[in-house]
Amino acid sequence: MTQSSFDEMLERIDAIVKNQIIPLETLLLTQQWDQLYPALDEIRQNVKAANLWAPNLPADVGGMNLSTVELGQIAEVSGQSPLGHYCLGCQAPDAGNAELLHIYANDFIKSHFLLPLAQGEIRSCFAMTEPATAGSNPTLLEATAELIDDQWLINGRKWFTTAADGSQFTIVMAVTEPDAPKHQKASMIIVPLDNPGYRMIRNIPVMGHEGKGYYSHSEVEFVNCKVPANHLIGQRGQGFKMAQQRLGPGRIQHCMRWIGIARRCFEIMCKHVKNRPITGTSTLADQAVIQSKIAESYAAMNASRTLVMETAKIIDEAGWAAARHHISMIKFECANMLQSVVDNTLQSMGALGMTDDSIVAFFYREERAARIYDGPDEVHKISLAKSLLKQF
Ligand SMILES: Cc1cc2nc3c(=O)[nH]c(=O)nc-3n(C[C@H](O)[C@H](O)[C@H](O)COP(=O)(O)OP(=O)(O)OC[C@H]3O[C@@H](n4cnc5c(N)ncnc54)[C@H](O)[C@@H]3O)c2cc1C
Repeated sequence: MTQSSFDEMLERIDAIVKNQIIPLETLLLTQQWDQLYPALDEIRQNVKAANLWAPNLPADVGGMNLSTVELGQIAEVSGQSPLGHYCLGCQAPDAGNAELLHIYANDFIKSHFLLPLAQGEIRSCFAMTEPATAGSNPTLLEATAELIDDQWLINGRKWFTTAADGSQFTIVMAVTEPDAPKHQKASMIIVPLDNPGYRMIRNIPVMGHEGKGYYSHSEVEFVNCKVPANHLIGQRGQGFKMAQQRLGPGRIQHCMRWIGIARRCFEIMCKHVKNRPITGTSTLADQAVIQSKIAESYAAMNASRTLVMETAKIIDEAGWAAARHHISMIKFECANMLQSVVDNTLQSMGALGMTDDSIVAFFYREERAARIYDGPDEVHKISLAKSLLKQF
């Protein structure tokens, strides 16, 4: 694709986000799920017809087959709305699951689960974190899967299984090799969610909001849950290796989306302060402290974008492993940039920022989690610092 045709495509996506997707946010903010999902489905069909579906996936499963640098630019544009990635078919956790299955799944899983997932005909979720064990160190996880008579018998409780509500299958991470070294104990197994051994306990209220369907996080349990042996992804004991493989792309895609959120908030902040009279003759935009927030937000957002694009370039040229430390760096850096830009925006809007009359409060409560999921700040800082210190 030439640069000019890529730029033209970005403009088309930006127009879809601004003209079709952002107007639907009111349905999200007022939790009118029955109207929201059919409206989103219609946009998804149009996106497919316009060949803009699944920018994260390779062509053989119907994706756009883009480089990471190209994906980053699209993810920023569609990330401007919390509905954007879903409309383009590149939303977490489906995106990470599809990318993982594309690499590791057997032919049965590819035809029964990956293809309909990649086409957006079904949804999926990823069940690794448990309420009773520290998710920051998943080698502690306690869920088990035992192979008996050609069937996996799965037991365990998981939570923060994003988008489990209405999903057709989950990838569950469970201990299959209890006596192996700690990084070779767990495996990943597919469980269709109509299985009688699976139960969704609740959608967890997060910052006071339960959500529904794709926009939710569930607590779930597996009680003597049986699935055929061929539902194993990859090899036994490869779970942590595959989790790293899944989370690497997942993390950079989150960072790209967060830059889109920062860009949206930045625009909202600038428009608001220019239009808010604060004295008879001046607006908020004339105040030095507000100008400072504008300048700091702009600098932080652009610095994050530069780091993310540098990381994307390393991935494209040298592969994921070569970008491992960059990915840790951008994960905490971009999450903190996001929190500060969203907070600056909310603060400059005063009481309005606290309401659901704008999207800012949604970003504020929903994206606080950015500093926790896919590895909390501390874990990424420790990992980066340890590797840097080795050089001295
Ligand atoms: C909105 C949201 C969506 C999520 N979606 C999913 C999903 O789809 N699937 C899934 O499996 N999981 C999901 N998670 C879970 C997420 O991955 C875990 O919350 C994360 O790994 C942290 O684990 P924990 O919550 O058990 O925190 P803990 O491991 O108990 O850590 C608590 C806190 O301690 C600090 N900490 C941790 N380790 C260290 C350390 N070594 N040194 C110093 N401080 C440390 C950090 O500040 C951390 O936040 C989601 C979480 C959220 C909030």
